[in-house]
Amino acid sequence: MTSDPKAVRPEPVEGQSFSRAEEKGKIGPSTGSGQTAFGNVRGKLTPDAPLAPLVWFKAGGPAGWLFEPKDADDLSAFLRDLDPAIPVMALGLGSNLIVRDGGFPGVVVRLGKAFATVAAIEATTLRCGGGASGILVSSTARDAGIAGLEFLRSIPGTVGGFVRMNGGAYGSEVKDILVEAEVVLRSGERRTLPLADLGYSYRHSALPAGAVVIGAIFRGRPGDPRAIQAEMDRISASREASQPLRSRTGGSTFKNPEGHKAWQLVDAAGCRGLTVGGAQVSEKHTNFLINTGTATSADIEALGEEVRRRVKTNSGIDLQWEIQRVGVET
Ligand SMILES: Cc1cc2nc3c(=O)[nH]c(=O)nc-3n(C[C@H](O)[C@H](O)[C@H](O)COP(=O)(O)OP(=O)(O)OC[C@H]3O[C@@H](n4cnc5c(N)ncnc54)[C@H](O)[C@@H]3O)c2cc1C
Repeated sequence: MTSDPKAVRPEPVEGQSFSRAEEKGKIGPSTGSGQTAFGNVRGKLTPDAPLAPLVWFKAGGPAGWLFEPKDADDLSAFLRDLDPAIPVMALGLGSNLIVRDGGFPGVVVRLGKAFATVAAIEATTLRCGGGASGILVSSTARDAGIAGLEFLRSIPGTVGGFVRMNGGAYGSEVKDILVEAEVVLRSGERRTLPLADLGYSYRHSALPAGAVVIGAIFRGRPGDPRAIQAEMDRISASREASQPLRSRTGGSTFKNPEGHKAWQLVDAAGCRGLTVGGAQVSEKHTNFLINTGTATSADIEALGEEVRRRVKTNSGIDLQWEIQRVGVET
């Protein structure tokens, strides 16, 4: 890959091409022949696609290309034929993302309806599409009498994001319920990765770069649907009381350091309500950053770095970002 990511940024201009792609017989934009720049895709391919509307922070620059594949074969063929120099990133609900203001210089893959299915396949297991929401997964589990997945009710995101991030809440995390994940690697190859191959730790997986999770099998335990619903209600109410759920945010900004709560460290460092431009540390939950309306991604990231600096000075602890920061600065 080139050291300058902008050098591989696709431009929606007829007649432009990636020479490396042509040398290798791989596909890149664009021939100007009237065909789609990336060959025969069946899904939707949008050049210079704004990402701000697609992420919770509602800030940041565009994707060079946004690809919404029709199905798994479409995604697989697309990635197989795509110049390996072009970066690829999957996007779920954008609930854990800062997309920098210069945008993502490559292809962003977003899974649509075809990937949003959930079905019980055995007494305690569910097959979930990579684009299915936590609400759909947890309510399908409830209807099938499968307990143990209630925590997904409270995490805004998709199965792909949960698998990538080892999403967790209320004492459970994805590594406790995952049997296997189905992925399309950056090369286009389809693979089934068992739990052991995902190298899970706190809010981290070893999923290969550029891989797209298109499905997962989750296992729970037998449960009574009424008790499962009661637990989901308890979790929702607790969330509502403690987090700014209707704000433009990215969820927990920093990982909890061993033996500490990030929000307490941020609070103790005097950062509650701190602002940089249009970005603010939430008054309601100090590990959440908020776009009050006019924040750029640069404001949000700078605020996070200022919080890290103050926490380090106050407690000696180095907070680590939990929110994924992608793309290029302006
Ligand atoms: C109000 C709020 C509360 C939150 N509470 C929690 C919580 O309690 N616990 C918790 O763990 N998180 C929480 N989060 C963070 C977020 O919801 C999770 O990290 C979630 O897993 C992100 O899912 P997503 O699909 O939106 O991923 P995105 O935010 O779109 O992406 C996050 C990462 O996952 C990758 N990714 C997304 N989809 C795929 C895919 N199909 N294949 C491969 N990689 C993919 C992206 O490339 C990126 O690296 C919260 C966020 C908000 C806004």
